[in-house]
Amino acid sequence: MLNLKTIDTDWTLFLDRDGVINYEKQNDYIHTWSEFKFYEGVLEAMAIFSKKFKHIVVVTNQRGIGKGVTKEEDLIYLHNKMKETIELNGGRIDAIYYCKDVESSSPCRKPNPGMGLQAVKDLPTIDLTKALMIGNTLSDMQFGKNLGISTIFLPTTRPKVKVDDDTIDAVFPSLIAFAQSLL
Ligand SMILES: [Mg+2]
Repeated sequence: MLNLKTIDTDWTLFLDRDGVINYEKQNDYIHTWSEFKFYEGVLEAMAIFSKKFKHIVVVTNQRGIGKGVTKEEDLIYLHNKMKETIELNGGRIDAIYYCKDVESSSPCRKPNPGMGLQAVKDLPTIDLTKALMIGNTLSDMQFGKNLGISTIFLPTTRPKVKVDDDTIDAVFPSLIAFAQSLL
């Protein structure tokens, strides 16, 4: 179990994107910045996280690129705009990793831990004993467990997931609800 009181400024926060930071699109990928919509409270949450965490890292599966339906340059533009908007509101993201592979066996595709391991290579001060993954799917939770870190489930898009699943350490209704619990 995750004791929230143990979280201090040595900790790293890994965040999924769709269904956590922004609304998912029903049965489709988000292809462009114009389709991207932040959840309520997320900008405020990111400002709180920027004071509470050493590193903030986004890890997102973006299979639409591998399938040829999302353009990689559109995704990069979207991520730049997302980061910029978060910064304008007092938050920050230190790194964004995306996996464009279609195959579930790809080491970078969650639940496989490749994006997390890459983050540790790029940011060697990440301490995986002090790290936490927030996501809206069991695949995100399994990614966290494959990295050996704590997990928080947001039932934003999958309210029927059994929250007593072994891979889930804590549940919050939204990113802002978790952020406020740290204050
Ligand atoms: Mg998601």
